[in-house]
Amino acid sequence: MSVAGSIVLPREPMKMVIGAEAILSAEEEYQPNPWKEATNEEWEDWRWQLKHRVTRAEQLKLILNLSQEEIAAIEVSKGRMATAITPYFAKLMDRNDSNCPIRRQAIPTLEEFHFSPHDLFDPCAEDENSPVHGLVHRYPDRVLLLVTDKCAVYCRYCTRRRMVGSSENCITEAKLDEAISYIQATKKIRDVLISGGDPLLLEDDHLEGIIAKVRRIPHVEIIRIGTRVPVTLPQRITPSLTGILKKYHPLWMSIHFSHPKEITKEVRRACALLSEAGVPLGSQTVLLRRINDRSVVMKRLMHELLKIRVRPYYIYQCDLAMGTEHFRTPIAVGINIIEKLRGHTTGYAVPSFVIDAPGGGGKIPVGPTYLISQDKGKMVLRNYQGKVFEYQEPQS
Ligand SMILES: *Cc1c(COP(=O)(O)O)cnc(C)c1O
Ligand code: SF4
Repeated sequence: MSVAGSIVLPREPMKMVIGAEAILSAEEEYQPNPWKEATNEEWEDWRWQLKHRVTRAEQLKLILNLSQEEIAAIEVSKGRMATAITPYFAKLMDRNDSNCPIRRQAIPTLEEFHFSPHDLFDPCAEDENSPVHGLVHRYPDRVLLLVTDKCAVYCRYCTRRRMVGSSENCITEAKLDEAISYIQATKKIRDVLISGGDPLLLEDDHLEGIIAKVRRIPHVEIIRIGTRVPVTLPQRITPSLTGILKKYHPLWMSIHFSHPKEITKEVRRACALLSEAGVPLGSQTVLLRRINDRSVVMKRLMHELLKIRVRPYYIYQCDLAMGTEHFRTPIAVGINIIEKLRGHTTGYAVPSFVIDAPGGGGKIPVGPTYLISQDKGKMVLRNYQGKVFEYQEPQS
């Protein structure tokens, strides 16, 4: 396990400086649209969106009033974790508010260069549980297959920030075949979770090639795709893509959502297409300080997800990835969110709150305690309102 002290940093850590006030200039009222030349067709084309990702402060300044801090952080982050934002996702950002939840997920801040002594290079010890490059085998019956390190937008809190965006390459044919051989040889594996990076950034035929290879393995019962693309690049969800996915059922999808603002008409359309292709959709949400750590915000997100037929699956405690301490909340915050959901709203709107154990123990669920005491089969319980009830277990 690597810790902060053993990481070689490409640059001197920046001093923590500068207030977060936006720079207000004479151009404040003038809102140039750097994509005004784009036709509707281009805007709706996922390849156009990818090609026009915003990666530099000069480009971002055209659409946002960046704070001094953000400008400095974008500069310092060069050569470290990549910054990239699709024009679509950038347009969801508040122009003036550097606390905008969409903005804080994608634009680096100087806090990222502060390392806590508890930060870990590989927070969930995925590299140690990797029998073959690109494959993480932690639980006996399922594996994680990482097919690319590229994402449409890089989340600053990414648990795989050690690798995402470093090459923007996908797995080589040779490595993929090694991974496939391992799955073939390991008969206990019944579930293959294709992730990355973001697998939906692969071209249709490339992605289909990978899914088809997995599907041909007789003991693989289900295939899952883990992705954030329906949220950061919803244009990628095309009839041609869903036409491919539906050939390989049962195929499930876990979509990474963070905030109700992310659920736009484009995202609704993308999720509808996936649902219509018979892909069961689940959500994964990282609990993030000042982004979604209030129970009203999380509840709204869960309700919006049900409306687009996405079943809330997991809320994750933020992993101990390097430079992400400012995103983390106490664990009690997550437990309290579940407390505010369970019983108070549709059961389907209640995900599991889990901590992916540092060092590689897998996901550990934590939540409110409803069993107050037990004595000779007399179980004392409390409900969501705090009312106390007894249940007598069978005596023989
Ligand atoms: C999260 C994860 C899985 C899948 O876990 P589920 O609880 O089945 O969704 C599998 N492998 C690894 C390494 C994981 O991190
Ligand atoms: S989309 Fe997922 S893998 Fe990519 S940067 Fe965000 S959290 Fe990391």
